[in-house]
Amino acid sequence: MFNKLIVACLPLVPRPIIRKISSRYIAGDHLADAIDITRQLHAGEGARSTIDVLGEFVDSEDRALTEKAASLAVLDAIAAGELHHVAGLSVKPTSLGLGLDEEFAHANIQELAQKARDLGIFMRIDMENTPYTDATLKVYRRLREDGYDRVGIVLQAMLRRTEQDLRDHLEYQPSIRLCKGIYKESREVAWTGREEIRDNFKRLLRLILESGLYCGIATHDDPLVDDARQVVAAHGLGADDYEFQMLLGVREPVRRQILAEGHNLRVYVPFGEDWYGYSSRRLKENPAMAGMIAKAVLLGQ
Ligand SMILES: Cc1cc2nc3c(=O)[nH]c(=O)nc-3n(C[C@H](O)[C@H](O)[C@H](O)COP(=O)(O)OP(=O)(O)OC[C@H]3O[C@@H](n4cnc5c(N)ncnc54)[C@H](O)[C@@H]3O)c2cc1C
Repeated sequence: MFNKLIVACLPLVPRPIIRKISSRYIAGDHLADAIDITRQLHAGEGARSTIDVLGEFVDSEDRALTEKAASLAVLDAIAAGELHHVAGLSVKPTSLGLGLDEEFAHANIQELAQKARDLGIFMRIDMENTPYTDATLKVYRRLREDGYDRVGIVLQAMLRRTEQDLRDHLEYQPSIRLCKGIYKESREVAWTGREEIRDNFKRLLRLILESGLYCGIATHDDPLVDDARQVVAAHGLGADDYEFQMLLGVREPVRRQILAEGHNLRVYVPFGEDWYGYSSRRLKENPAMAGMIAKAVLLGQ
């Protein structure tokens, strides 16, 4: 109850406080911060990374071009640091203009896919809210039809349409990141109950693996992590047939445990100055958020 109240009041919480308590979720303001974290995660834990330039729902083409330039710089930095096998790039289609003009966004994403391919780096197209699902999948299909193989998609277990989307894309043999989905969606298009979303996640994971597809199992939810451990064992999969994925700053002991068991795991490493939207979503998911905000507000910590 208290948590729900705090979530509703989040827009009223001063930005410096949000920034402070959400800093664990973000590598820093600069690309060098993301590269440092990527190196640390790999050297310290054997984890891989996918780097994301913070930003979404841009409202001008100039802004989208700036975002594209920042993602191109990520690819250059990964290549310069010889981190190809350790790090990939994640991109949000609306940060590249999908909400402005589909062709414009497609051209931007294609330029990134081209550079990623030239440099031998994997690029994943994040999935945003349902107004953009069709257009995002279309960008992916066009890229694949044009020969860009090192590109993957994200499917959201909370959406009722996802199983059909998966079936519709089997011919592309996509690399899939499976997650619950973070955006608020209506009951018409999404399951909203915790257990029904979990059930769909489990069903989709089986479908993906039984279809021979590579899956990034993106969750911090113990029952789903446990289920995935069992499914990959039951299917006799090797460590390179799938990976776990987690967000920077979330459930680090679980992350280390998964890695210690010999699974591959990739951490989503966001950086940049446009941190507010991403940070707010992470705080809303954090069960300890209410206490953290109360402490920060009351004690100025
Ligand atoms: C690598 C990665 C990429 C993602 N990409 C996308 C995407 O493209 N599109 C999209 O819609 N969603 C994306 N998501 C977000 C995802 O959809 C979920 O919103 C998010 O992962 C939380 O769901 P969960 O399965 O961890 O379950 P939850 O039930 O939310 O969390 C399980 C447990 O993890 C802990 N936890 C979760 N979040 C936090 C937090 N912020 N701070 C502290 N503890 C926490 C809590 O203990 C919680 O009980 C991504 C997630 C990951 C891991």
